[in-house]
Amino acid sequence: MTTANLLDFDLEGLAAFVETLGEKRFRATQLFRWIHQRGESDFDRMSDLAKSLREKLKTAARIEALPVITRNDSADGTIKWLFDVRDGNAVEAVFIPEDDRGTLCVSSQAGCAVGCRFCSTGHQGFSRNLTTGEIVAQLWFAEHFLRRHLKTSERVISNVVMMGMGEPLQNYSALVPALRTMLDDHGYGLSRRRVTVSTSGVVPMMDRLGQDCPVALAVSLHAPNDELRDNLVPLNRKYPLAELLDACNRYLEHAPRDFITFEYCMLDGVNDQPEHARQLIDLVRHHAGRGVSCKLNLIPFNPFPQSGLTRSPNTRVTAFAKLMSDAGIVTTVRKTRGDDIDAACGQLAGDVKDRTRVGERIALQRTVILKPVTSIAGTKET
Ligand code: SAH
Ligand code: SF4
Repeated sequence: MTTANLLDFDLEGLAAFVETLGEKRFRATQLFRWIHQRGESDFDRMSDLAKSLREKLKTAARIEALPVITRNDSADGTIKWLFDVRDGNAVEAVFIPEDDRGTLCVSSQAGCAVGCRFCSTGHQGFSRNLTTGEIVAQLWFAEHFLRRHLKTSERVISNVVMMGMGEPLQNYSALVPALRTMLDDHGYGLSRRRVTVSTSGVVPMMDRLGQDCPVALAVSLHAPNDELRDNLVPLNRKYPLAELLDACNRYLEHAPRDFITFEYCMLDGVNDQPEHARQLIDLVRHHAGRGVSCKLNLIPFNPFPQSGLTRSPNTRVTAFAKLMSDAGIVTTVRKTRGDDIDAACGQLAGDVKDRTRVGERIALQRTVILKPVTSIAGTKET
């Protein structure tokens, strides 16, 4: 008999499962707390559960951790795990400690089908969606490992960002129960404002997330006009900027925060010129006559060999940030963490068996892309 992986269930799902075992729904709460708050995976050690329930669970259920292939510890305290998700696929999760918080960057897919030019996961192509249990297992493992490692019984992870490998909104049905488990007071009890979904702009799913499970939203913008964004983020051809920004405004009606975070990866000579900053200001200030309430997060590009792209010099990042700030747009430059262990944004490569040939397609396109900056009117190299 195949057993159910209890990491696949949010509390509602676990209650329904417990009912199928002929038990009262409320037993699920105790069980859920054992699993997520205590990190327990052995039913025999769940001492306050009725013996009859424990026996049923032993035959019908399991709590399946992901095997750890490697762990890397960076000099700055960042920890990266590579998890085996079978069939030759592996995904990564990264813990980033800061003074006032602990953030876990979580993967949602083995590979990614969006195929952004500047992203190493995108270059690998797409293998498959992770299950809810595989998404939750990254947090379950990391939280309880870190408590042991740091010898604390207090919560270590206060924030989750869905910014690892994969496009979370292309794995929506697995994502939502995973988010609910993160938010649940009987689970990880994370604040909606401290759980962030990052998306390249899957417009219909942004609307559904706003309805089903509003959390903080980051949108990977990377370009201020459709022509450039079509090249960098191919999904833009399906959901162009005007539609994306409309979706951002609709999302803000439900969001736990009153702004969207726009992520913008700074690529040398590609999207980092003063003209791009001016276009971006115009876009976020005046879109549809009212603009979009946002903060801007500039990410220095983390290079990887196949990209053919380079990181913008610091002076240009600073100049870009200043233009944005002077226009009243709150702008931060992301500190690169864990780059000595290839744990920085966009460097997560895992090991993916591409079943869709996205990677091949990008490799073929590489010669076609990116107009030289001189073709943008009014642009001067700084
Ligand atoms: N698929 C989602 C979430 C994962 S990527 C998304 O695209 O939003 C998380 C963030 O890292 C995104 O903003 C992405 O654009 C950025 N990123 C990808 N590759 C990068 C690289 N090489 N250097 C810096 N940032 C990168
Ligand atoms: Fe996928 Fe995000 Fe990478 Fe684009 S940046 S390829 S959407 S993981």
